[in-house]
Amino acid sequence: MKMAVIGAGAMGSLFGAYLAKAGEAVTVVDIWPDHVAAIRSQGLVLGEETGDEVVRLDAVLGTDGLAPVDLVILFVKATATRQAAIAAAALLGPGGRVLTLQNGLGNAEVIAETVGGENVLVGTTAQGATLLGPGRIRHGGRGETHIGRLSGDNDAFCAQVAAMLSKAGLPTVVEPDVRSLVWGKLVINTGINALTALLRLRNGQLAEQAETRQLLALAVEEAVLVARAAGVQLPYEDPVEKVLAVAVATGQNQSSMLQDVLRGSPTEIAVINGAIVREGERLGVATPVNRTLTLLVQALENQSGNRKAE
Ligand code: NAD
Repeated sequence: MKMAVIGAGAMGSLFGAYLAKAGEAVTVVDIWPDHVAAIRSQGLVLGEETGDEVVRLDAVLGTDGLAPVDLVILFVKATATRQAAIAAAALLGPGGRVLTLQNGLGNAEVIAETVGGENVLVGTTAQGATLLGPGRIRHGGRGETHIGRLSGDNDAFCAQVAAMLSKAGLPTVVEPDVRSLVWGKLVINTGINALTALLRLRNGQLAEQAETRQLLALAVEEAVLVARAAGVQLPYEDPVEKVLAVAVATGQNQSSMLQDVLRGSPTEIAVINGAIVREGERLGVATPVNRTLTLLVQALENQSGNRKAE
């Protein structure tokens, strides 16, 4: 299977590196010249628990001139999804599909607008990575990746992608109810990301104060009402307990939204708390807490002039 990864940041480089190490035909694509140049000249420096490893990886700046592929793995931040989806559509060969493991709600639907819902695979991953600088990433969390088709039944293509990722060291299963998992992760991010970004706390610190626990519970309870109205069965019993448990288990982590705010980069608020607000509007569920959190994060983005239009 010929593949391209569009968005070779922390996660795109991680998946690209594992696939390349397994001998798969993969090219990573980014628009950041220094990063692409570093990977091309010295290889990708992949930090693992056991130490640094240099991985030879095919990297290009933009998709111009790339031959058609069977699978695009799209790993840009949500603010760049539309642009990346247009590039992905131009790159797909006959029968080709796009896989998104991005966080939040709505990326898969944006991609579907350009390639058709039946050609989109969506999912979640418990893998984690951090971009340290041009050509350097650190592999963080590890765990399963779950994938499924956005529209239509899972088929042999899904099984082939899961088998290929698993063989490359990224354990992946085909999931019949992928929507439940995407919402499950969305609800967790809804409780953790905006609050850690606004209060500049590490994840675990949210569980340490009565006030932050209460704020987290308010945001999560609203998201759960929206999920129910959308007909989604969440993959855990007690959502507030689950989100607190994740915050504690990832206690030392800075959430990606906090990292974005500290760097002055656009955040993924629009597809996390903002998605709860949008879905709530559509379904007639009031979401004042998530609306407030969304507006506060957007106001923070405006302060550093880093807000990007979708
Ligand atoms: P990142 O910012 O490290 O990487 C994104 C990359 O996309 C950047 O290198 C950027 O230059 C590139 N890019 C932007 N526009 C582009 C375009 N039009 N074409 C090609 N490249 C483009 O982000 P990340 O941390 O790798 O996250 C990517 C997605 O994965 C996000 O949705 C995030 O929420 C999700 N995710 C991240 C983690 C994690 O641990 N980092 C874990 C699970 C899911």
